[in-house]
Amino acid sequence: MTPLRLLLVEDVEDDATLVARELTAAGYDVFAMRVDTAEALRRELVDAQWDIVIADYTMPGFSGSKALAIVREHDLDVPFIFVSGTIGEETAVAAMRTGAQDYIVKGNLARLAPAVERELSDAAVRREHNLANQRVAYLAYHDLLTDLPNRALLHDRLQQAILHAHRDEKSLALLVLDLDGFKEVNDALGHHAGDQVLQEVASRLKGTLRASDTVARLGGDEFAVLMPATDVNRAELAARKVLHDLEHPFQADGRAVMVTASIGIAGYPVHASNGDKLLQRADAAMYIAKNDKAGYSVYVAGRDPRDYERVGLAAALRKAIDAQQFVLDYQPIVHLRAGTTVAVEALVRWEHPEQGRLPPAHFMRVAEHTGLINPLTSFVVGRALSEWPPSILPTPCTIAVNVSPRNLHHSAFPRRIHEILVEHGMPPSRLSIEITESMIMSDPNGSARCLQILHDMGVRIVIDDFGTGYSSLSYLRRLPVDELKIDRSFVLGMSEGEDDTLVRCLIDVAHNLGLRVVAEGVETAEVCQQLTELGCDAAQGYYISHPAPADDVARWMARQRGYR
Ligand code: C2E
Ligand code: MG
Ligand code: MG
Repeated sequence: MTPLRLLLVEDVEDDATLVARELTAAGYDVFAMRVDTAEALRRELVDAQWDIVIADYTMPGFSGSKALAIVREHDLDVPFIFVSGTIGEETAVAAMRTGAQDYIVKGNLARLAPAVERELSDAAVRREHNLANQRVAYLAYHDLLTDLPNRALLHDRLQQAILHAHRDEKSLALLVLDLDGFKEVNDALGHHAGDQVLQEVASRLKGTLRASDTVARLGGDEFAVLMPATDVNRAELAARKVLHDLEHPFQADGRAVMVTASIGIAGYPVHASNGDKLLQRADAAMYIAKNDKAGYSVYVAGRDPRDYERVGLAAALRKAIDAQQFVLDYQPIVHLRAGTTVAVEALVRWEHPEQGRLPPAHFMRVAEHTGLINPLTSFVVGRALSEWPPSILPTPCTIAVNVSPRNLHHSAFPRRIHEILVEHGMPPSRLSIEITESMIMSDPNGSARCLQILHDMGVRIVIDDFGTGYSSLSYLRRLPVDELKIDRSFVLGMSEGEDDTLVRCLIDVAHNLGLRVVAEGVETAEVCQQLTELGCDAAQGYYISHPAPADDVARWMARQRGYR
């Protein structure tokens, strides 16, 4: 028997008994409480948890609609049903409008049990949905592993802190901390041990610093500390304290591990006047500390060692673009229900003369930092369109190209895209541009204008790696987006038996915004099936096809069509 905690708002004892008996007969293990005044109702709502409230509509000393209002003040989600002898159609409609789930006429109590069953199940769905929404909102601002604020929340707090510091003519300091040799810990002891170290670092940082400081994880083994009302000298003290605290060995999978860190310090207003610059400068100072093995260092204008480090790779990249050492693989994206290919995503690789084929992770950062991403993206779009002329690309399949935020900062970018499209006789609607969520959020305003122009041209806009960034829904709503692509980490998680609430939620979010939703990283038939059931529109991944040269993918598509 299903237990049912039933709160009855009813002045007539016998009527209450009838309702309880009806539900017991339907198989519920009823625990019922009857109230007939506002005070008693309020008390019960505070003192106990109820699965459902059933109320009479007209009572001498109390009214059903008043009861409903009181219940809704306390709990928006508990199902509320009117049972009344007197209710007319109009009042019933009015009652439903104020938030009752149903009404039942006393003469027709047979309807009660099915109505209760339905409402309980709807309420359960609502609860689960709310939880998932709360989780997504939390995830948007926190790092899963350490529970620390993430880059987005740090960014917000930094913005706020600078406003306050400006108003009060105070200073503030920002520390960026990067672990030394963390990769070796990960490689030698495994990710699990690495994760433990990161968690322990997070908790030591929080332990050492003041509650008013914000400790955030920027990603990987990089942390940041925002210290309001602190000048650079005090920040140096704090840095020394932090380094001292990290000197004790860490426990990782039962082993003692030594970890050191490098800290960079930058202060407002001495080193920068806005949050982004401050973060960059603290980061630059951290690299100096690392290079000099100094433990910590304070930002010094004009010394950014990464500039030297990158020179070699940058020069090689520049030559590679001129020498056209890049090739493209393509990966199909298929519609889950129709089975048709809706897009092919172009993925760039560098055929390095000495090192062989390099994946984008090896050179994208440098391409972005040096601005070489602009000619590279032009190359990728041009090459993709030449390998998929309109005569070969079946309608309504699009070509998806990944674009970096640096491209979107270039005001000439939409014009360049337009030229390439014209050159290849390709309608803009057959090109999709993928931009990762975190990238877009690192500079919302800068990217929005370019995206809007591209969208107005008819180019499809896709948010890539959705779920890992930290976009607020209200911001997403304002962007000209056509499609969301759920990050593969969530999709891979599904096959490992993690619950699918999050994926379900991301799909809901996309659909609520009226967007098509694609899942990437689909590696098994089971996940493909699960996604279809969850209403996901399209999928991409090794299970469907690995990235491959254009010819292979074209043949693959022809075979797919042959089957249908
Ligand atoms: P992305 O846009 O999220 O691309 C999907 C990546 O997931 C590709 O990695 C692909 O090979 C991989 N992948 C596909 N199916 C599966 C699967 O079932 N399981 C797993 N575990 N992985 C799968 P790839 O080619 O190494 O590209 C990595 C990233 O580099 C891309 O992520 C994209 O952000 C970036 N990228 C690639 N080409 C370009 C480009 O031309 N321009 C720019 N700006 N970025 C690019
Ligand atoms: Mg992509
Ligand atoms: Mg992706």
